[in-house]
Amino acid sequence: MTFVDWTGLLSVAEIMEKVVLGKGARKGDRERLRKGLEELERTCTGKEILDGLTDENFKSITLVRGGGSWGSYGTHEVQIDMNLNEVTLYAGPDNKPKLMGLKESAGYSTEKAVALSAGHEFGHLLGVGDFVYRVYEPDIKLPRMRNVMKHDNPLRRELGLPTARIAYGKSFKCEASGMSDTDVIRYIRRQ
Ligand SMILES: [Zn+2]
Repeated sequence: MTFVDWTGLLSVAEIMEKVVLGKGARKGDRERLRKGLEELERTCTGKEILDGLTDENFKSITLVRGGGSWGSYGTHEVQIDMNLNEVTLYAGPDNKPKLMGLKESAGYSTEKAVALSAGHEFGHLLGVGDFVYRVYEPDIKLPRMRNVMKHDNPLRRELGLPTARIAYGKSFKCEASGMSDTDVIRYIRRQ
């Protein structure tokens, strides 16, 4: 008997078939990804993200070490940097942005880091971006962080990582931090 998947949804096993080993990828990274995807599947937001992935919007996933993680809506490709040491800004105890790595978060595990990274990048495949261009200043990209708000932060909460992402990289803040557009532009120009 042949199994026919009428739903068209991609299972973790089917996503794993799209994995390509890229620069620096190590033995064991494939298995590390699989465990992270299973962790992702256990969360409510992760399940929603995975339910949106199809063969049409998801072509390949490349595992690398160094070079960063990204997801492209246009090419339907994802790259996951298995170093997983991205530095992100989190809210500190006094509610001021505090710079810390993911690994410093309470409740951190490799599976959760993979789940978070994959969940974020898959969010881009679903067409949700982080940056928008300003209409009257087209050279300035603003970190609106829609993908972070829609996928990242709920995922962090569901994975038991205590902190929300409130800024993009080291130099960009977003509206979630309470800054106005003008403040953000001023902030970016100061960098
Ligand atoms: Zn992003």
